[in-house]
Amino acid sequence: MAKNIKRPKGTEDVLPKTVSRWQTIEKIARETAENFGFKEIRIPTFEETDLFMRSVGETTDVVQKEMFTVTAGDSSFTLRPEGTAGTIRAVMQNGMLNDALPLKLFYILSCFRHERPQAGRLREFHQFGAEMAGSPLPAADAEVISLAKSLLDRLGIRNIKLYINSIGCPVCRARYYDSLREYFEGSKDKLCMTCQERLVKNPMRILDCKSEICQEIAKDAPVITDYLCEECSAHFAKLQEYLQLRGIEYSVNPRIVRGLDYYTKTVFEFVTTEIGAQGTVCGGGRYDGLIEQLGGPKTPALGFGMGIERLLIVMEKQGCGFMEPKKCDVYFVNMGEAARNKAIQLASDLREIGYFAEFDLVGREFKPQMKYANNIGARFIIVLGDNEIESGKARVKFMETGEQLDITLDGSFADRFDEIYYEKLLDSIPETSAMKALTGAAEEDK
Ligand code: ATP
Ligand code: MG
Repeated sequence: MAKNIKRPKGTEDVLPKTVSRWQTIEKIARETAENFGFKEIRIPTFEETDLFMRSVGETTDVVQKEMFTVTAGDSSFTLRPEGTAGTIRAVMQNGMLNDALPLKLFYILSCFRHERPQAGRLREFHQFGAEMAGSPLPAADAEVISLAKSLLDRLGIRNIKLYINSIGCPVCRARYYDSLREYFEGSKDKLCMTCQERLVKNPMRILDCKSEICQEIAKDAPVITDYLCEECSAHFAKLQEYLQLRGIEYSVNPRIVRGLDYYTKTVFEFVTTEIGAQGTVCGGGRYDGLIEQLGGPKTPALGFGMGIERLLIVMEKQGCGFMEPKKCDVYFVNMGEAARNKAIQLASDLREIGYFAEFDLVGREFKPQMKYANNIGARFIIVLGDNEIESGKARVKFMETGEQLDITLDGSFADRFDEIYYEKLLDSIPETSAMKALTGAAEEDK
């Protein structure tokens, strides 16, 4: 027998049973971002490899070890490992920096990184991200952090800590790199191979190394906050003032340098200790040099990425609420050809005004159809057989109480069903129907 094909390691199937959890996060994320004035952008799944080399940076884990790259002809393409680079590329290519600034964008997308799969660490994962371009002010940093915090709050996530740091600008970083190099020089040979290289190209990256030996060596390394220039230092102080003003709790953690090369000044992470080692749910920061570095006009910008799988793990652990999957409003139990044809017609009338309607499609007997309707939790059942077709009348059974109401199977059917539904289940009336009820009421008022 042929071997069954399995999904690739580090990927996940989201089944109908749990998809409403994803929909909950996506819906609240969209709403929250829009309330902050961010607009959605959708970008390609893959980009030219050079884009990530030039933005994410050649000394990062992502570029050095984690990219899924394919060559096609003379070109090299990479599946996006994050959303910022592609978003900024799209912003520049579509001339969006000519619009009124700041430009505020958000996205929900899949990312691809060739990592060792573990809980909360996948090869295909998903991010909600936001980017703001055009403001150098620390008020913008506070606004972006506040968007992330607001989303976490609205999802019901608790006990999550915000860590902030400033990794300065190229001016203060030059001085800092010198003293880092001096610090690591003595134990150079004990660092991992990657960090030995980092020592030359970007010594700050060593602080972000996941190897225990490197972490141990880095324990007493000088901290960036002691090397900030006046401007970066003032920016960082002002940001903290704004966070306090908004009542957002934070701790300064000079160890946070972030995994991507393009950051300047503010960097931040939201971390929980409740889900094991992969507790960083959100990471972000300012990247004032990136747009220029990619050939655009000098434009300050900042943003963050939030891992949706990690959000889900925390939410499940903390027992946060999710939207209920949509329930079947009405099931037509139908016996015989004529009854099925009627069911098809009535169901389509109801679907047109926003109801979730189903009927038997596999030719089951009466009892199994009733059982099926029960299993899917149908709110109402309408039985259609020869008698009903002949008399043009049927009974609507309200499953919650077992109560039965009369309905005629003519042109008034949908209106009558709407009436019954409205009477029994006012709270869960579908939107289109609720709107009709409202406009109807408004017209009566006239
Ligand atoms: P980590 O240190 O955990 O590897 P990172 O610094 O590589 O994270 P970022 O590039 O900042 O992560 O990505 C932003 C967010 O995306 C992370 O905070 C995390 O929630 C999520 N994320 C990153 N890599 C993965 C992955 N392989 N699987 C699932 N989520 C991920
Ligand atoms: Mg990583």
